Amino acid sequence: MEVIRSQKRTPSNDTVSNPKIPLYLTAPQMEVRLEEFELFAIDRLRVLKGVSDGLARGRNPKEMDDLVDTLWKEHMRDPDASLMFNKDIISHFVLRLVYCRSDELKKWFLSMETALFRHRFRLQNFEAQRAIVGEFGLPYKAVTGAELEGLKERLGQVVRSLGQISPTVEAIYYKVPFEEVPDLVASRRVLIQKGYAFVAGSQLVSLVVTQFRSHISKALILTNRKWTTTIREREKDRLTPIVEALSTSYLGPDYSQSTEYAEISLKDIDQVAKSSFPLCMRHLFEKVREDHHLKHGGRMQLGLFLKGVGLKLDDALAFWRAEFTKKVGSERFDKEYAYSIRHNYGKEGKRTDYTPYACQKIILSAPGAGDHHGCPYRHFSEDNLRAALGRMGLSSRGMEGVMDQVRNKHYQLACTMTFEAVYGTSCDAGINHPNQYFEESQKILKSKTPPAPV
Ligand code: SF4
Repeated sequence: MEVIRSQKRTPSNDTVSNPKIPLYLTAPQMEVRLEEFELFAIDRLRVLKGVSDGLARGRNPKEMDDLVDTLWKEHMRDPDASLMFNKDIISHFVLRLVYCRSDELKKWFLSMETALFRHRFRLQNFEAQRAIVGEFGLPYKAVTGAELEGLKERLGQVVRSLGQISPTVEAIYYKVPFEEVPDLVASRRVLIQKGYAFVAGSQLVSLVVTQFRSHISKALILTNRKWTTTIREREKDRLTPIVEALSTSYLGPDYSQSTEYAEISLKDIDQVAKSSFPLCMRHLFEKVREDHHLKHGGRMQLGLFLKGVGLKLDDALAFWRAEFTKKVGSERFDKEYAYSIRHNYGKEGKRTDYTPYACQKIILSAPGAGDHHGCPYRHFSEDNLRAALGRMGLSSRGMEGVMDQVRNKHYQLACTMTFEAVYGTSCDAGINHPNQYFEESQKILKSKTPPAPV
């Protein structure tokens, strides 16, 4: 895949005539415009994030099929089938670069790409599915003749135990080493005999998904090697910054401007922090009130959040000054800290208007000793998290639901469930940004406040 500055991209010919689910076995031989490199990756990321959310919410396989279908149509569809196919391939290979860079990133990408592939495969008709099996070169032969005859009774028992009707005479079974279909074995959905599982044609997905997962897993290791040895350095002025930004890229509104629900002033900041801040910001806020100090990571995370919820620069300076001067004195505050607060508001340095951090960036941060930034669902010990959730008023049932999500590393979903428990309402969009948590909370609280008497 060669990335070029800006010319019309030429679709590769073999993809034009062959539009189906690609297996991403080799990098595409085509030119890609720099803008597409990034935009296609962002669109695929939206699909993968939607898949991750659906899985975390425990959607069943049929619901996941529908979700994948909708997400794909929304973000990846192109009226030209060959362009859509190319977008599919390009976006996958770009994200492979993005997500090969750490074990945690690799694990997430591998799970989401596998889930995406599984449901896309399930949405294909039987012929298209068999073509994909062929393309993988899977060496499984259909069981025929006397062998099939001898197994019919037991195959029928398995089918009936699943509440389905007996296999028809045309039913096709594949004989597969049982370790290649672990999910079918674990859920007792296949007959096993002498180390082989007899997999029905309708269960092909399991075979193919195992192959797909193993292929992507190996490919991520190889890509990581190429990235660290050559690509990162060679592309340091062009692709590397894009690749590095993509894994923490947040795809929703940036919350850099305050809205009607985000307008706070110093006099009510304590009350609003209690009623509407998400746990990460509540914790930082309490710490600055308690210790009269926060290290750099905490000042950035809380400071930009406060800017996003509408705290004006003068109020922000007054807030930080009131706390920090208790510890470091006003001279040092003016010298060392006031500048960076003005800087966050775009009043110093390059005058960039910095945007508040999204959950993903906060979750991936790595707080050290003495730091208080980060996401409590990811960075707190279990005891500390339980205590903090208790202070937010969660019942023990609500808390167990949240802790389940934390154990499964679904930190944003844990935060969403906390939100739902605290405000007694569902949050279908899920929490993706601390400022979104704040705004949603304010909307609910304001709708419950009776209008002032006239
Ligand atoms: Fe904050 Fe997001 Fe973590 Fe919630 S999920 S605590 S909003 S970083």
